[in-house]
Amino acid sequence: MFKPIYLDNNATTPVDEAVRNEMWPYFLEDFGNPSSPHFYGLRAKAAVDAAQRKILSALKVDEGKVILTSGATESINLGLQGIAFSKKGAHIITVLTEHKAVLDTCKYLEGMGTSITLLPVDPNGLINLDGLKNAITDQTELISVMHVNNETGVIQPIPEIAHICHQNNILFMSDLTASLGKVSINVKEMGIDLVTLSAHKICGPKGSGALYINKKAQDKLNTPMIHGGGHQYGLRSGTYNVPGIVGLSKAMEIIDEINGPAALKEMRDMIEDSLEKLGGIRINGRNAHRCPNVSNLTITGVGNKELFSITKNQLAFSTGSACNSASTAPSHVLTAMGLSAEEADSTIRLSLGRCNTKEDIKSVVEILTSAINRIRKYKMEIRA
Ligand code: PMP
Repeated sequence: MFKPIYLDNNATTPVDEAVRNEMWPYFLEDFGNPSSPHFYGLRAKAAVDAAQRKILSALKVDEGKVILTSGATESINLGLQGIAFSKKGAHIITVLTEHKAVLDTCKYLEGMGTSITLLPVDPNGLINLDGLKNAITDQTELISVMHVNNETGVIQPIPEIAHICHQNNILFMSDLTASLGKVSINVKEMGIDLVTLSAHKICGPKGSGALYINKKAQDKLNTPMIHGGGHQYGLRSGTYNVPGIVGLSKAMEIIDEINGPAALKEMRDMIEDSLEKLGGIRINGRNAHRCPNVSNLTITGVGNKELFSITKNQLAFSTGSACNSASTAPSHVLTAMGLSAEEADSTIRLSLGRCNTKEDIKSVVEILTSAINRIRKYKMEIRA
């Protein structure tokens, strides 16, 4: 069966064969429950312990705990809710362009008495560090700013934000879901206290993720979200998803092996350089540092739904964010960067990954060029 070229790796990725092979035994012969003290349980527990060590090592931290979750959404909820509920009247600062998992959790927390500040961004999608400093109050417990934006690839100045947090004795949480494997990560050097991540964005399985908390964050975060048998330091009850956890750790271990940052950038630049020649193409976030696998393009005179519909048998890309599955509203990320609803409707996101090749990219350029020219020509003809 012919399949369209996949350009939606920020929505999800295929599971890598090495990851699947590593997971396989934990469905069959090593199926035990890690909480059981017998042979089968101990084998499963050894796998979970090893996975946690691999995750710590991939994040480049030498202390702290990994809470294993169902994905980044749960990790974000646990981090935000855990810190918010650690103190009555806590204040949390975050950003308008965060993932909905952050924004909607903050909305919920606001209803529960937490005070929330949402920082704006400039047209390149970046926060203003003076604005961040000014937003801090003596009740501020947590600042949460994602590393790479999943829609635009814009990279926030994480070490500088961490510095401001630590100067003010505030915990710093960062969502690394869109940055892992695409830019180099050293959580210790970046100064992040709480990290959220997801396996299915890095060629691991769906339904598996983690929240990393360093010692400082552990001292504050002691409110579970999922109550039960007291697993995972009492913070996240429920039987461990052993194959999913093993898959996550393997995906993190092999993260840079195929299509590392340089290869992704080369392919992304091939697309951007070629399409720009058509004119009327804006690369959103262009003047910021950007993650090398994402291209967010506003194409004047071309509705993204039209482009999608005439290319859908050849290409699979995003016209919004798969994360906001229930919404048809223009992207909150793009509108926060100053795009009109009409511009957002002329915007596509191409996100590259391990499955893409340079050969694919040549075809992508040809298909998009021809479709854009066709739509523009048709519109000129009906206007004439
Ligand atoms: N953060 C970012 C930046 C994401 O792109 C996503 C997935 N769309 C999430 C969080 C949520 O991840 P998950 O699907 O694992 O819940």
